[in-house]
Amino acid sequence: MSAQLLDGSALAKQVKAEIKQQVETLAAGRGVTPTLAVVRIGDDEAAAGYARAIERNCKSVGIAFRPETLDGDVTQAIAAAKLATLNADAGVHGVMILEPVPDQIQLDRLIDLLDPAKDVDGVHPVNAGRLLANRPPFLIPATPAGAIRMLDEAGVVYKGKQVVMVGRSDIVGKPMALLLLHRHCTVTMAHSRTVDLPGLCRTADLLCLAVGRAEMVKADWVKPGAIVIDFGTNYTDAGLKGDCDQAGVAAVAGMMTPVPGGTGPMTNAMLMANVVEAAQRAVGE
Ligand code: NDP
Repeated sequence: MSAQLLDGSALAKQVKAEIKQQVETLAAGRGVTPTLAVVRIGDDEAAAGYARAIERNCKSVGIAFRPETLDGDVTQAIAAAKLATLNADAGVHGVMILEPVPDQIQLDRLIDLLDPAKDVDGVHPVNAGRLLANRPPFLIPATPAGAIRMLDEAGVVYKGKQVVMVGRSDIVGKPMALLLLHRHCTVTMAHSRTVDLPGLCRTADLLCLAVGRAEMVKADWVKPGAIVIDFGTNYTDAGLKGDCDQAGVAAVAGMMTPVPGGTGPMTNAMLMANVVEAAQRAVGE
């Protein structure tokens, strides 16, 4: 067997074309250009690179990108004041804070100050809580939102599926588990203290991996015919690798996301979708 590959690059292109259309509709009908403010504190190179990637994505769909860069020695109070300004600015529809932040900054405290309606990363406790309760409106973190869109496009039937979600972060593992639970999957969450992880993974009809360990999951961890969603983004000497051994797993799984070209491009697209959704809500659509 050779698994059907879920092509995230192709789907991201399609999603971005839809978003571009929505942006044009907002501009023509409401005179509004969806605008994303990206707060970066200090001069971390990874954060700067991520900001440039977001800027390119914004440009490609017509979203206005507003960089908000603060000095690395800024105080918590000054960072908080910046957020208050962005919250109050009706011309800004989405706000995100890039990681890492310098040691003197308490990121959780900053996130608490975000206007939940502008929290396009879906990390504010109001959005996380609304997702937990399945009580819209809420903004969903872009990475799991992208994976769900890929599964939807592939026509996957969720009801009754046994899911194992390996990884329990607030931006990938937990929201992905909740999204699948709300779709009537039976979800087990695994993490670094899980006993017999290979055995547990073998029970999954849908195996989702968000660990950050290159090629950790081997073919014999995977149930024949299972769907494997690999969020892993691991830069190795041999190039970008997922959390599973892609070649080995492809011989066993029914469907899987490639790395690269799977969940990564969809994350970028869904972040843009969240900005447009926030802008639409802001004008009452
Ligand atoms: P975190 O580091 O926040 O979480 C990693 C999770 O993996 C933790 O829950 C941890 O368990 C668990 N874990 C670590 N080691 C093991 C192990 N040996 N066995 C089982 N579980 C383990 O990572 P993120 O969720 O932020 O990211 C995970 C991966 O996804 C990374 O490769 C990241 O680069 C990638 N990523 C990809 C995105 C995309 O668009 N495709 C977007 C965001 C992230 P514990 O909680 O017990 O410590």
